[in-house]
Amino acid sequence: MIQGFSACKLTVTSHTLAASLHSLSLSSLTLSPSLSRFFWRRSCSISPAAASHLRFQSPEMAANDRKTPKLPVKGKRNILITSALPYVNNVPHLGNIIGCVLSADVYARYCRLRGYNAIYICGTDEYGTATETKAMEENCSPKEICDKYHAIHKDIYEWFDISFDEFGRTSAPQQTEVCQAIFKRLLDNKWLSENTMQQLYCDTCKRFLADRLVEGICPTPGCEYDSARGDQCEKCGKLLNPTELKTPRCKVCQNTPRIRDTDHLFLELPLLREKLEKYIEEVKGSWSSNAKQTTASWLREGLKPRCITRDLKWGVPVPHEKYSDKVFYVWFDAPIGYVSITACYTTEWEKWWKNPENVELYQFMGKDNVPFHTVMFPSTLLGTGENWTLMKTISVTEYLNYEAGKFSKSKGIGVFGNDAKDTNIPVEVWRYYLLTNRPEVSDTLFTWPDLQAKLNSELLNNLGNFINRVLSFIAKPEGQGYDSAIPALADGLSSESHDPTKKLAERISAYVDQYIEEMEKVRLKQGLKIAMAISTEGNGYLQECEFWRLYKENKPLCSLVMKTAVGVVYILACLLEPFMPSLTQEVFKQLNLSTELHLSLCDEKGDVNKAKIPWEILNAGHKIGKPQPLFKELKDEDVEFYRKKFAGSQADRILRAEAEAGKVAEELKKTKISDGGKKKSSSKSSNDGKNKAAPEPEITISRLDIRVGLIKKAQKHPDADSLYVEEIDVGEEQPRTVVSGLVKYIPLEEMQNRKVCVLCNLKPATMRGIKSQAMVLAASNSDHTKVELVEPPSSAKVGERVTFPGFEGNPDELLNPKKKVWETLQVDLQSNGELVACYKDVPLTTSAGVCKVSSIQNGSIR
Ligand SMILES: [Zn+2]
Ligand SMILES: [Zn+2]
Repeated sequence: MIQGFSACKLTVTSHTLAASLHSLSLSSLTLSPSLSRFFWRRSCSISPAAASHLRFQSPEMAANDRKTPKLPVKGKRNILITSALPYVNNVPHLGNIIGCVLSADVYARYCRLRGYNAIYICGTDEYGTATETKAMEENCSPKEICDKYHAIHKDIYEWFDISFDEFGRTSAPQQTEVCQAIFKRLLDNKWLSENTMQQLYCDTCKRFLADRLVEGICPTPGCEYDSARGDQCEKCGKLLNPTELKTPRCKVCQNTPRIRDTDHLFLELPLLREKLEKYIEEVKGSWSSNAKQTTASWLREGLKPRCITRDLKWGVPVPHEKYSDKVFYVWFDAPIGYVSITACYTTEWEKWWKNPENVELYQFMGKDNVPFHTVMFPSTLLGTGENWTLMKTISVTEYLNYEAGKFSKSKGIGVFGNDAKDTNIPVEVWRYYLLTNRPEVSDTLFTWPDLQAKLNSELLNNLGNFINRVLSFIAKPEGQGYDSAIPALADGLSSESHDPTKKLAERISAYVDQYIEEMEKVRLKQGLKIAMAISTEGNGYLQECEFWRLYKENKPLCSLVMKTAVGVVYILACLLEPFMPSLTQEVFKQLNLSTELHLSLCDEKGDVNKAKIPWEILNAGHKIGKPQPLFKELKDEDVEFYRKKFAGSQADRILRAEAEAGKVAEELKKTKISDGGKKKSSSKSSNDGKNKAAPEPEITISRLDIRVGLIKKAQKHPDADSLYVEEIDVGEEQPRTVVSGLVKYIPLEEMQNRKVCVLCNLKPATMRGIKSQAMVLAASNSDHTKVELVEPPSSAKVGERVTFPGFEGNPDELLNPKKKVWETLQVDLQSNGELVACYKDVPLTTSAGVCKVSSIQNGSIR
């Protein structure tokens, strides 16, 4: 939803008040920019799936009534849980995952464990400018973008064992229905006003331009950066309104847009203030302090009318004659996604959402989303005059930072959801580490050595060790252990007669009470800490009792100790289930218990009281399963490996991978046939049977379309530290946009206004959001520490073709990437001892002479 905000900085010129409302203050139309620019996107984004809604659940949930959706039950605690909807066009990183989706999952699992009637709703937020822009860049429809990323999100959350009851998408028809119904009520109740604003319009593209689709000269004196974006100048950092840019141009077609009036609808927040304050007064007892503070400061600064419509196509259409060509602004429609996704889950969704007497709404989000959930969304619902279930408890996280810096989606820094599953570190370890590090009151830091320390000392040496010691001893054959059967207590022997057992039971029971107290308040990190303290108690108990000695010296007492200890194992597995469901599955398997029947922490069933008598939890004679170690040590070299692997941005990682691939190609070349590009294709005879399509032409250097180009402008890629974006004249009507990974090697000034050799018939590729329409040729030394541009003579004509004497023929229109033409030829492109750029021994030649590099001899050219 976020993206919309920046786009909302419209200038209001006049206001016509539709609904008899008072006048607006103009400056008020914008959210505080720092907030607005990152709304949702930063803290979470989920993408829409191909199916209008998907469900994924842990296996044990799935076994439960999948077909019959849960509805509120009178007399029970009915808990509706939501996680902020991740924005669809990104891969979530670990900071996003802990920020809402995982945190809400822990709480949802806890509720189920306690026997509450809880559902967990989430989905991808799909509408808005960001998706539209991305679709334009990738040359596909917004829906295709959403389908693609929804699937990515879905996979990642499945891997992380997130137990959604419904994981939907805001592009579902239910969204349109619910959103339009809410709008109509707001309109009828006269909470909406109309305003004329001014926005840039491109006559060529026939559309109003979102902020990020406008570029121009920065108005800041002394900056005057000529590619400032409509929402912000990248050079001086100033937040901008697109109408402030000098000589603005449309990013799509480069034409000059004009200022045009456009009417929009506004939600009259100031008029709803009284209702809102009443709600906040009644409810905020259970809000976290960061939520209370943010909300208070919003109210203190005064509420402003907020624009709820946009000149876009990809959104929920506004059901109003005058506004039929507009859609709702994402900030307005995205929270409604919680409702519409519930409507996908059950047609009786109103039993959850319009039932405040019987339903408690818990919402999880990152700190940047607070005002949307404490001010905007409740105001919207209150304005309908209907009896909505409003948020009771809000759980807000700060940020998780990565090693030295911030996780950044746009910069690709950090570990992403899809990276985590490519490590050998199991999901329960990831969940544990993220949750012990949950940024509840302040930002926290992800580091690999910290993950290693927590895994090795807390999970392996404490928890894993305790459980494994108990189960392995019970599993030992008669004479050394109990032959896998839970021992019976000797007659007359009670815990009363054994002080360590009595004390252990008291402490554990106290811990369980504390655990519940913390979890009820959604202090998840604290809950986890308490559960782990029980494991420490267990280890201390085993040491104190010296069960291995008791087995020989006092067998009845040893039976009491082991029966008690295995009861503690069971308690631990239950308490840890919300945090590490896969671990609990495994421990239950080793205990030979079914999670469906035995996983529970309900008051009604007396589960909590069992903690006072752990020796009575498992029945004597019950046979346990096969004990196995639960965790594996993470070694120093593994840590070093991961640290390197995930260093830098994703773009850097791609370049590193490419460099690796280059080395491999280098190796391959030695064994590859390549003779002047002559006969390489196999003779027809081997292609037995019917001849298929035309034979693939032989791979010869003349198929490459290399031209002399002039870099008219080069700048840093806005979203990738290692990339430049250049505008290069290659003799065509329009310059081409080219993205090159040269930042580390060539200073920006040296890129400007320079003649280069450009490969023009590669298939265009999008690099971090910008489509690269050609490739600049450069040479690198063997260890890739030095890179230089291949330069044509200064008098070569811009646009002329670079040829290879002896290899005549026309270039392909576009090289078929599947045939690896470029890849095959590239291995023979090198600078020679005289610094001349060559294919084998044939120089790259122009009408003005050969092309050269400045200092790298025998460098590989690509
Ligand atoms: Zn500037
Ligand atoms: Zn345009």
